[in-house]
Amino acid sequence: MHLTRRDFSRITALGLASQLVPNLNAQAAPSERKIGYCIIGLGRISDLFMAGIQSSPTSKVVALVSGHPEKAAQYAEKYGVPATSIYNYDNMHVIRNNPAIDAVYIGLPNSMHAEYTIRSAKAGKHVLCEKPMATTVPEAESMIAACSSAGVKLMIAYRCHYETSHQRAVKLLRSGALGKVQVIQSAFGFNCGSSEWRLKKALAGGGPLFDVGIYCLNACRYLTAEEPDHISAFASSDPSDPRFREVEENVTWTMKFPSGALASCATTYGTQMDGYFRVYASRGWLEISPAFGYDGLHLRAQYMPEAGPFVTLDEPNPEKSPYHFTLEANHFSQCILKNRTPKSPGEEGLRDMRYIREIYRSAGIAMA
Ligand code: NAD
Repeated sequence: MHLTRRDFSRITALGLASQLVPNLNAQAAPSERKIGYCIIGLGRISDLFMAGIQSSPTSKVVALVSGHPEKAAQYAEKYGVPATSIYNYDNMHVIRNNPAIDAVYIGLPNSMHAEYTIRSAKAGKHVLCEKPMATTVPEAESMIAACSSAGVKLMIAYRCHYETSHQRAVKLLRSGALGKVQVIQSAFGFNCGSSEWRLKKALAGGGPLFDVGIYCLNACRYLTAEEPDHISAFASSDPSDPRFREVEENVTWTMKFPSGALASCATTYGTQMDGYFRVYASRGWLEISPAFGYDGLHLRAQYMPEAGPFVTLDEPNPEKSPYHFTLEANHFSQCILKNRTPKSPGEEGLRDMRYIREIYRSAGIAMA
């Protein structure tokens, strides 16, 4: 049978349609109990996570920790959390006595991740902590040690690890069909509002690299399945812009991997920079653009496999936000239910923290 390039694209696109729609219900046997989550910090990302959990067959929201009683009461009503399961930052240690709570989800500013991970581990609860894992390498190490000694699991919420388009890209690259990875380009940034905690070093740890550049860094590592052995970087800030008194505005960095693959990445708080990556390999290229938003992801590729024929992929992902968070929560809940190690454990977050420190070192910015 002879297939034209157009035929082939159509077939692959059709074939993908079924692969792209994650069958959330297939991920858990109906008889399994649901893991109960206590949500710590009720900001934007926690809101999305709680919305995502609603479609999860393995997870439910059972408790809240907040410094704002009115906001907590509103979310409690929305998600059916009893008033007796609302805690504040001072009394949250008593979550230990609430058997409905299996795990916590930490959606707080970066510098609070270590403290609340350690407090939750001491209360005997598994921890799903937002990225970046921490603001320093020693903090990240102490989080791993605390969870390990308490015998609880620690997962860093790298949602793209659990997302279908990213998983498809990784699978295609691992299949060898595109040949050897030569160069990756990736960027992600946005114009940061002046009142954001993200601009305060004590809360954020650093600028856009901690917040959104970390997506590019992490993606280059899972796309190559390698760890960089050389990193070099530049950072810059507009000295007349009061937003960048404490954290940097722009960072670009290059990573060299042992295979010889090179990755060139950029991040900013100074302009809108839609997140994407493009992988150039010896037999073609593959990109997801946009790659790091909550929906609307679009995978494209063109390559000539060794056995041919030429392949063109054009695969918009039809899933709607907050599907990332449903998949992410399902994964962690399954790990707890089946006593497995998460795909993005604390050690994965720690590696990125070490690379961030190396990028900063190269760019002349100090970090512990
Ligand atoms: P946010 O500002 O919307 O929410 C922060 C929450 O922390 C608020 O409820 C706030 O009341 C609470 N808080 C407690 N103490 C605070 C303090 N001293 N200063 C400021 N807020 C305080 O922030 P967000 O965008 O939800 O980010 C929270 C975390 O989630 C960050 O670590 C961020 O990197 C991460 N995040 C992850 C994703 C993702 O897609 N995985 C997306 C956005 C943010």
